[in-house]
Amino acid sequence: MEKVESKSLFGWYFNTNLLIRILIGLIAGSVVGIILGSVLEGAELARVLAWIQPFGTAFIRLLFMIMVPVIFSTLIVGAASVSPKQLGKVGVRVMLIYVFSSFLAVGTGLAAGFLFRPSVELVGIEAAVGDARVAPPLADQLLAIIPNNIAASIVGGHLLSIIFFTLCFGTAIAMLRESGNERTKNAAETVFNFFDGCAEIIIKMVKGIMHYAPIGVFALIAVVFATAGPAVVGGLAMVVVTCFAAYIFYVVVWYLLICVRTIGGLSIGRFLMGAKEAMVTGFVTRSSAATLPVTMECAAKLGLPKNVYSFAVPLGATINMDGTAIYQGAAVVFIALTVHLHDPVIFPYILTGEQILTVLLMATLATIGTAGVPGGGMIMLLMVLYSIGLPADGTIPVVAAAYAMIVGIDALLDMGRTSINVVGDLVYLSALTRRMGTLDMQKWA
Ligand code: ASP
Repeated sequence: MEKVESKSLFGWYFNTNLLIRILIGLIAGSVVGIILGSVLEGAELARVLAWIQPFGTAFIRLLFMIMVPVIFSTLIVGAASVSPKQLGKVGVRVMLIYVFSSFLAVGTGLAAGFLFRPSVELVGIEAAVGDARVAPPLADQLLAIIPNNIAASIVGGHLLSIIFFTLCFGTAIAMLRESGNERTKNAAETVFNFFDGCAEIIIKMVKGIMHYAPIGVFALIAVVFATAGPAVVGGLAMVVVTCFAAYIFYVVVWYLLICVRTIGGLSIGRFLMGAKEAMVTGFVTRSSAATLPVTMECAAKLGLPKNVYSFAVPLGATINMDGTAIYQGAAVVFIALTVHLHDPVIFPYILTGEQILTVLLMATLATIGTAGVPGGGMIMLLMVLYSIGLPADGTIPVVAAAYAMIVGIDALLDMGRTSINVVGDLVYLSALTRRMGTLDMQKWA
């Protein structure tokens, strides 16, 4: 956002770092919520909250609104940017590693969730009624990935079908961009440029929505604290602890000890020296896309061959998001556990075996469709929750409340996950090229 030249409150708002504004929203929302909850009661409290609530609901609706356009634009441009020629043997391996590791990361997040059991006790939220777990069986969900009618999928917000279609569409563009036929090539280039423009515009919109985040977070958190009381603080702190414990475990054990040291036979210290700028930039910007130039520079510093990192790092910034995958796993357990504790009759299990499998699969696909911008992961969490019968759109009030709470602290969780998203690309590419004998070992001497 361009600097707004004004000394007014408006100018201050747009010129202050977003993270700081969100944290202010979070703290102010908690304080206001606690005060309201302790001085007002019953109908009076409900009347005041009815004024605050719409500001939070508007934020959630904005996230829903942007979900499909984000997937469409990010994935078409991502898939269309990788030339099939470049892909070759290394490319296929890179893709497989990127996808496999996401499974592992979601599993780590789920395991951390079950270990730390983060949850909050939500009093005052309406109980769910009927049989709310209406998610169709996994096999049907898998088949439904192939759309019967793409227009219907877009209208109905069937995200997996949209992901499937856009990946096919983007790959076809990538192939035609290299066609020998001048007319076809130009046409494909035009369509590519069109979607490239769309992607830029959508990202701009996401950034715009994020400017509203501090107000949305304030309202969401104030309502939760006013109705559920300060007891939820511990639960939310536990979500942060769970995610960061999982992030640290994943980096130390999987990235450093297994991938860098054991599989790549490389020095952990040297790796960290080479990758530190990207890690720090990811942490503070909370955007893999914004960190991309720094990640490229680190890739060069680590001695990765240019023909590999020139396509594999941008590809990784779009589809390889282990940090986001860990977060999805842990966040799902937090929400499912909170819902289970709130309505144990309707939700007798935290997650069933089938739901866990569904989360592994859907969260992996979700990370592929996540845009590398601040808050991208919390938008895609909506899709994962929907796939296990826990829609956050308000049909089950306790799900919406739990989702609102995790949105409130998303800025903190996003810093850690983005840092991992960024460093993951460097880890895998270093280990892979070392094994293939193409890593420049002079850079490691
Ligand atoms: N902010 C993350 C990234 O850019 C995406 C996310 O929100 O999970 O990598």
